[in-house]
Amino acid sequence: MKRLFIALLALLPLSAFAQYNPETLRTAVAQPAQRLEIVLPQVNGYNIYKVDLHTHSIYSDGEVTPAFRVKEAYMDGLDAIAITEHVEYRRIEPKMLKFLKGYTGGKALKAENTDLIRNEITESGIKADLNYPVAEAVKESKKYGVLVIPGAEITREPVKIGHFNALFTKDNNTIYDPDPLQSLRNARKQGALIQHNHPGWRRTSCDKTEFEVKAYNEGLIDGIEIANGGSLYLPIVDRAREENLFVAANTDIHPTTAEYYRLKGQLRNMTLVFAKECTLKGIREALEAKRSLAMSGGYVCGDEQLLKDLFLASIKYEVISTDKKGVRTVLVTNMCSIPYQYKTSKNALPVDLLPYHSIQFKVAKDKKLNLTLTNMLCGADKHPKVTLEL
Ligand SMILES: [Zn+2]
Ligand SMILES: [Zn+2]
Repeated sequence: MKRLFIALLALLPLSAFAQYNPETLRTAVAQPAQRLEIVLPQVNGYNIYKVDLHTHSIYSDGEVTPAFRVKEAYMDGLDAIAITEHVEYRRIEPKMLKFLKGYTGGKALKAENTDLIRNEITESGIKADLNYPVAEAVKESKKYGVLVIPGAEITREPVKIGHFNALFTKDNNTIYDPDPLQSLRNARKQGALIQHNHPGWRRTSCDKTEFEVKAYNEGLIDGIEIANGGSLYLPIVDRAREENLFVAANTDIHPTTAEYYRLKGQLRNMTLVFAKECTLKGIREALEAKRSLAMSGGYVCGDEQLLKDLFLASIKYEVISTDKKGVRTVLVTNMCSIPYQYKTSKNALPVDLLPYHSIQFKVAKDKKLNLTLTNMLCGADKHPKVTLEL
């Protein structure tokens, strides 16, 4: 057996050679696909996992399949994504039924209850299997090693009620109820965590509505999106702290992340989760313990101490020389993929500390190096401050 294996190995280069065609120029297009690697430090003994807790596919109103979402997340450098189709808004279902009319003797079946934001549900109920998109993504995830978190988005009228992601769901088909509060309870009953989505969307303020007050008072909300797509909800940084919610920055992606982020040279929004392991259990434990930060559009938001710990774990620094007056030259290097921005005094302009770059500081004798981290937010208008002991 062993000999056969060695013999097969020896054949491998030959078979590659056999495919070589001297008349065909292999261009750069033939390069294998390359995943973006986002390098982050370990912090307080935890790994930082890059997670998107909010995505859509063709099974609600997205443009791609759940399988594509998994591959896309892999290429974008993520460790985990939640598949969270709208329970109440499945725009593509009527098209799917038209496409499949050959199966029903040429008769196009009529889609029912695909828009429950504007219409009341009829007796026939939701006929789609809302667990299917998750199952498709889970199957695909084996190829890429990306963890799939089962979920669904409870999607109601946005101004008075709002949207909520049920995460770590067991059965998406038992979430719906005409009463939105009961929908949240149904999700909670099956052990889901509930994330308040895009809390200022289509509104003039991020203040809680009457409905939200009820949902919060009933203890139905576990986490909240500080960032969703291109919106950063500043007052929510404070609410998350005051109400002990996990924070998230998610894409809520409907088209491709390439067009929305990477073709513009940006990292996609991601929820940084500080966990022991990238499993459903590990990610859930971290969110329940509120060990997450929201990273979006160059900002990182959340708990003050966690932000400081992340920054200090991301850099290394050393005194490289001291002059006659005792002034030290300090070299600070950013060892991770997050771009940082700082100020050394109140009226100074913010300066970038780019990933994998170093900056020299002059620090007077007996002084420490104080940095205000201006692209980190631990409140609507508050930045964490760190002191580097020299
Ligand atoms: Zn939504
Ligand atoms: Zn959504």
